[in-house]
Amino acid sequence: EQIEDLRRSHIAEYPDFPTPGVLFRDITPLLRDAGALREVIRYWMSLLPADIEYVVGTEARGFVLGAPLAYELGAGFVPVRKAGKLPGSPATLRYDLEYGSAVVQIPENSLPVGARTLVVDDLLATGGTAAATIELTRRFGVELLGASFLIELEGLQGRRKLPDVPLTTVWSIP
Ligand code: IMP
Repeated sequence: EQIEDLRRSHIAEYPDFPTPGVLFRDITPLLRDAGALREVIRYWMSLLPADIEYVVGTEARGFVLGAPLAYELGAGFVPVRKAGKLPGSPATLRYDLEYGSAVVQIPENSLPVGARTLVVDDLLATGGTAAATIELTRRFGVELLGASFLIELEGLQGRRKLPDVPLTTVWSIP
């Protein structure tokens, strides 16, 4: 109940952003409220599998939410970034978007084989971003425990792009 109230009070909705027809969910009102942020992270922790060793977070809001989860879990944090930001020889994946494609990267040597790993992002929409993040993560031979999101837009059926990945979400919006 309380958690559901927090969604209504702390997630803003902007019609037609960034493009016409899209209803954008803005998490910044949640991020700037210390008490609400703490409450949501606490609740989110209760949904997660045990013994997570690494949290993989997707740029950029997956960093903001993944880092406090990793800290609370006693896990490490690994960023998945847009192309060109990481030094050395990061693992790279190009994936299709509705229009065109995008490239994501993960630091070289960032995950040990068999490491118990959770993927985190703020929002699951069509699932393309999460599917790419998961594919990149799996290249390291980790034990993928699941993927977890603050918000899932159920109508976009992103889950279908993530078969055999246990999913948890703080807020599922029909
Ligand atoms: P997908 O790849 O279509 O599932 O889109 C998910 C990615 O786009 C995530 O990294 C989100 O941060 C971002 N995203 C998509 N829609 C929204 C939104 O309404 N609010 C905030 N982020 C969004």
